[in-house]
Amino acid sequence: MTQIYNFSAGPAVLPREVLLTVQQELTDWHGSGMCVMEMSHRGKEFTQIIHEAEADLRKLLGIPKNYKVLFLQGGAHLHFSMIPLNLLPENGTIDVVNTGHWSKIAIKEMKRFAKVNVIASSEDRNFSYVPAESTWQRSKEASLLHYCANETIGGVEFADIPKSEVPLICDMSSTILSRPMDVSKFGLIYAGAQKNIGPSGLCIAIIREDLLGKSRANTPTMMDYSVHADAESMYNTPPTFGIYVAGLVFKWLLNQGGLVAVEQKNIEKASLLYETIEASNGFYHCPVDKPFRSRMNVPFNIRNEKLDDDFLAGAKAAGLLQLKGHRSVGGMRASIYNAMPIEGVRVLCEYMRTFAKSHG
Ligand code: PMP
Repeated sequence: MTQIYNFSAGPAVLPREVLLTVQQELTDWHGSGMCVMEMSHRGKEFTQIIHEAEADLRKLLGIPKNYKVLFLQGGAHLHFSMIPLNLLPENGTIDVVNTGHWSKIAIKEMKRFAKVNVIASSEDRNFSYVPAESTWQRSKEASLLHYCANETIGGVEFADIPKSEVPLICDMSSTILSRPMDVSKFGLIYAGAQKNIGPSGLCIAIIREDLLGKSRANTPTMMDYSVHADAESMYNTPPTFGIYVAGLVFKWLLNQGGLVAVEQKNIEKASLLYETIEASNGFYHCPVDKPFRSRMNVPFNIRNEKLDDDFLAGAKAAGLLQLKGHRSVGGMRASIYNAMPIEGVRVLCEYMRTFAKSHG
């Protein structure tokens, strides 16, 4: 059978080793006689699983003691309304940077509950870059700053953490754990699991403790960060299986030497792909300005877009799956999260070169 490489943007490829461990442990977790899916979330077995997962995540990201780690549901989407409800008063203002699809969705949703001030946008050039920080029109009234560290659809990634005098809020869904991050620079980080963490259905938030306890009176209980923090993510039934798989992914990352080592691999993988695009004499084109090209999601277009279907069909036959770009932008996109082996990227690059040669 052809070796399959899955370039989906999420839910995305999981480490093979992790899947094999899940398979081995599926019907009997560590001699308990139970599958993790069958365990009480308050039992001693699952308590061990969630504690270990949190400890390993803390180790990986160097999360300071004054931050809570929350295992939540509702996806990254729910945070778009949790953020204003928890962190801003009724007439509060949030500054935001608009770098693409997910920034726009966050803005639209936050507007229901807050004044949203777009301090910079790259919409003028079809979201192909991150506006220079020196041009950001920060507002005096704002008490938060929100940005999306990696636009999963556009393939635009912030190279650095922005400076901010107000708490910095970051949608890190598609870049978390791909490189070391100084968590102490943030007020809140949130990320859906289904890219670099584990299965969908789990969303992780990392929040500085002094931001807790300030939710508006009408905040639904399930949307109150403090409720989840006080209950150690056990206010209601958490997504237990997702937390278990995430914990295995964290161990897999630690075993590779942590995020410094992981980042090196990601740089190598992304470079291979961008170099292949650059070396194609315009046959392939990446719409993103070089300094902001994502290491996780690599969008590219074929000069003659009539070849798109042939490219995708040939890729599929070669075992290279889910390369079609998001329906809103078209073209191609190769998502190369942590779990994509470098061999998969090499096979894709080889396929791209061969395709270009035979269709150029
Ligand atoms: N933000 C980013 C950067 C994303 O990539 C996604 C999902 N692709 C979301 C938010 C929304 O996540 P969810 O579907 O988990 O709500």
